[in-house]
Amino acid sequence: MRILISNDDGIYSPGILALAKVASRFGEVRMVAPDVEQSSMGHAITASRPLRYKRIRLDEFEAYRVNGTPADCVALGTHQWQHTDVVLSGINLGLNLGNSCWHSGTLAAAKQAALLGLRGIAISTEFSDKQEPNFSALEPYVTKVLELLLEEKAMSLVNVNLPPKPRGIRWTRQSVRQYDGKVVPSKDPMGRPIYWFTITPLEGAEEGTDRWAVEHNWVSITPLRLDLTDEKGLTRALALHHTPPIASGTSGNSQRNKKSRRGMNKKARHEKS
Ligand code: MN
Repeated sequence: MRILISNDDGIYSPGILALAKVASRFGEVRMVAPDVEQSSMGHAITASRPLRYKRIRLDEFEAYRVNGTPADCVALGTHQWQHTDVVLSGINLGLNLGNSCWHSGTLAAAKQAALLGLRGIAISTEFSDKQEPNFSALEPYVTKVLELLLEEKAMSLVNVNLPPKPRGIRWTRQSVRQYDGKVVPSKDPMGRPIYWFTITPLEGAEEGTDRWAVEHNWVSITPLRLDLTDEKGLTRALALHHTPPIASGTSGNSQRNKKSRRGMNKKARHEKS
């Protein structure tokens, strides 16, 4: 099994090496990660300049540093390493729970794998400036998670979060109840206004969610999907009397409008005003 490992903390992060060590028991490992930290970059891609893919040595592993984002690293890494089976992303220094999934670079690397038709697994753990994660204490849980998920071939995108001292593993759903971003005004040394866009720690989560699990010292595993469609919203919209207006007027558009009308939902077409 070919296991490509990326992250958003950069190729020299201790988290990626900790993950590579565990993953190497399951297959052939290669690391491809940003040359500098790209945390909170989300799913950005580098389209306006070329990327470089430079080989470096990290312990006994083959590794490459890329001057791009986590998503770039997975696109480039799987291009350069044919027949990659699965992409792991992490171990991120910092949890990626609930709303963080929207801006996480760690999860974006796993998402990029899923977009390419591969499987992607993001793995994150708690981190503070005072204390680095104890990777050797987490190792049995990372092993267990990989044993579980590498067999689950139907799950194409999974988000895993580990508390510092886990007591077991739980399947969870993503918590989306609260937002953890906050703008804090301040002043620079010259007295000019500046703003920090920062994370507010959230407490108290709905049972069964990722945040709830980690608060209760469970390893959280959340299966995710790429399709963001609000199915209920779409069903409601299709049943509405008024369909979105179709541009008309110029003769050049009329042919296209006829075509698109033909493709419209039957009921909606019937009820169009
Ligand atoms: Mn990070």
